[in-house]
Amino acid sequence: MADRPQPARHHSEETATPRRLAGGRLVIASHNPGKRDEIAALIAPFGIDAVSAETLGLAEPVETGATFIANARLKAELAAQASGFPALADDSGLAVSALGGQPGIYSARWAGPDRDFGRAMRRIAEALDYLETEDRRARFICALALAWPDGHIERFEGSVEGVLVWPPRGTNGFGYDPVFQPAGFDITFGEMEPARKHAMSHRADAFRQLVATCFGSSG
Ligand code: IMP
Repeated sequence: MADRPQPARHHSEETATPRRLAGGRLVIASHNPGKRDEIAALIAPFGIDAVSAETLGLAEPVETGATFIANARLKAELAAQASGFPALADDSGLAVSALGGQPGIYSARWAGPDRDFGRAMRRIAEALDYLETEDRRARFICALALAWPDGHIERFEGSVEGVLVWPPRGTNGFGYDPVFQPAGFDITFGEMEPARKHAMSHRADAFRQLVATCFGSSG
C-alpha cells in the first residue's frame, strides 16, 4: 500500500530522546488474558516486574479515542495515573483499504457482543461485494503506548500488509486471521503456524520498536 501516506511509527514527546524503562514495575493495561500473557512473556527478559491492571483492581476504560494510538494512550495514561507506575497498553485491528480503513478501531465491535468473527468477516466481504471493487488490500495495525505517572509517553505503531480472501481459510489464530493473507504468502494467518505469524505480525512490529527504544541496555 505504498500509495497511501504511512503513519509516523514512533512518537516521542517533550524531548527528542526517548525514555527508557530501567527495570522496576510495569503495569500491563489490558484486561485480555491472552494479550497480557503475551506481553508479559515478551518483556520477561528485561528484568521488569510486570503486573496486570486487573491484579491492581484498575477499571477498564471506555475506548473513546479516534485512532489506535489515541486508544492505547488513553488506556496507558489512566493505568499509570491510577497505579503510580509506568503502564503499557495496546490497541489493534484490521484496516481495509477499499472501506476507508474500516473496521479499524471498531474491529472488535464489528463482531458484536457475542464476538462472532464469522459475522464480522462476512460483513467485510459483503461491503466489498457491494462496492464491486477488486481492491482487496488490508493491513493489521497495532499501537502501543508506554505512559509514566509524570505524564511522559512513548508511542509506537506496527503494521503488516496483505490482502483479504474469501471464503475464510484456516483455524489458527483469532479474529480476522482466516481472511487475511499477508503480502508475499499464499496462505492466510489462519493457516499459518502461530510462531510464524507472531514473528511477522503487526504486534511483533510494534514490540520490536518498543523494545529497541525503551527496553534493554541504555544507549
Ligand atoms: P483490541 O482488543 O481493542 O485491540 O481489538 C482488537 C481486535 O482487532 C480483535 O478483536 C480482532 O478483531 C482484531 N485483531 C487485532 N489483531 C488481530 C490479529 O492478529 N488477528 C486477527 N484479528 C486481530
